[in-house]
Amino acid sequence: GGEDAVAVRTALKASGVPSALHGVNQAVENDEWSPSSWTTKPIKQDVLYASRPPVERALAKLEHLPPIVTPKEVCDLRNQLAAVARGETFLLQGGDCAELFSYCEQDAIDSKIKLLLQMSLVLIWGSHKPVVRIARMAGQYAKPRSSPVEKLADGREVPSFRGDILNGFDIEKREPDPNRLVEAYFHSAATMNYIRGQLSSGLADLHQPLNWELGHVRDESLQQRYAKIVGSIQESMRFMRTIGADKASTFESVELFTSHEALVLEYEQSLTRRLRHPPNRMSTEVSPSQDGKGWYNTSAHFVWIGDRTRQLDGAHVEYFRGLENPIGVKVGPTMAADELVSLLNVLNPNKEVGKVTLITRYGEKKIDDMLSVHIQAVKKSGHVVVWQCDPMHGNTISTAQGIKTRHFTSILSEVASALRIHKEQGSFLGGVHLELTGDAVTECVGGSEGLVAEDLRLNYTTYCDPRLNEKQALEMAFLIAGAHRP
Ligand code: PEP
Ligand code: MN
Repeated sequence: GGEDAVAVRTALKASGVPSALHGVNQAVENDEWSPSSWTTKPIKQDVLYASRPPVERALAKLEHLPPIVTPKEVCDLRNQLAAVARGETFLLQGGDCAELFSYCEQDAIDSKIKLLLQMSLVLIWGSHKPVVRIARMAGQYAKPRSSPVEKLADGREVPSFRGDILNGFDIEKREPDPNRLVEAYFHSAATMNYIRGQLSSGLADLHQPLNWELGHVRDESLQQRYAKIVGSIQESMRFMRTIGADKASTFESVELFTSHEALVLEYEQSLTRRLRHPPNRMSTEVSPSQDGKGWYNTSAHFVWIGDRTRQLDGAHVEYFRGLENPIGVKVGPTMAADELVSLLNVLNPNKEVGKVTLITRYGEKKIDDMLSVHIQAVKKSGHVVVWQCDPMHGNTISTAQGIKTRHFTSILSEVASALRIHKEQGSFLGGVHLELTGDAVTECVGGSEGLVAEDLRLNYTTYCDPRLNEKQALEMAFLIAGAHRP
């Protein structure tokens, strides 16, 4: 439990074990924030390593390494999310549930970038708005687990897989290994480097013919409907080219921001740096910092708090409240409306528009009871947030064979309900948050290919939650776009 963790840390400090908090390290007794003030709070999903010295060495190494993202990029996203909160832009966020180090590879990265780009074009067509894209990539290596142990078929109990940043999926590698913290940095940096390179070299050039491959769509009328959307997008692009309006640099390269659940706070802290604010930062602070600097999490542009670690008085909320980055909070069915408002007050006391993205994930059956109450409470509080629907995490089920899956129709139904409820409440859906991959996996059932439970074993390769495959993801984009534009 959290109290235990605090006790362990206090004991370690008292014993003279070097602190991970070089430079910024006073434990804080009042409400003053520092990158390490979270260590005084109870923490969920904590990590206990067999021995501390190798962890301290890994953290010291991380603290020395350069930022992976820059304040200028972070503030670009922050400004764009303010536009999402005002209803001017739509937000698409997607990627793997658990990104493995081995996904740091050319084809896997290319196919995910292309898929997100393709989906965003469809969403632009549907929403008549620009789309800001955030990948769950280049750092999505940590997983919260509902149980710390996993029971194997032979009856043995082993520690659960908690993501490549902590331990390995192989049964033999389930003890947390501090070297993985440093490995996470290098895989994240290499992925980011390749994404940047590909984007600036025209992988995302909208002039490039995109392969829409709609042959898998079995339903004739659906097939025609999609073909019509694709045709309309392609025609618009040809028209832009004809009149020369495609010369704007936005047409040749697009932005793709990165994100992950900031779960392993020792890692996040070591990449949290006090840096000069860029010129594009729009400050809403009552009393801006004297030195023109702020605390940036330089491991990703956007980080979020998971549904299991969002306790009001917990370590994660404490860590997040001091960041310059735009941040997300997962909002599951156990969130009370007044708790949600208190959380917003702690995370965003200046009520900056779009600073916080509420990632709602109730489940298709619970959304009707929860979302409207949350919308009303937030509206009354004066906070203006990005409302994003995560239709994946409330809709995970097990098949009769015990395989974790999600129904395409349940996912779609939660998005459709979110669109409808927001409209009824005089609010609007700002974006969607999806687990997807560019590969032809068989992890979610349904969709126009007609995947059924028996098909799941064909190519079930996720190390955590079931993802939409390339076709299902693109189809989801078509359906969301269609719902925007009937
Ligand atoms: C996730 O996004 O993979 C996740 C664990 O979500 P949640 O915190 O909403 O359960
Ligand atoms: Mn997940």
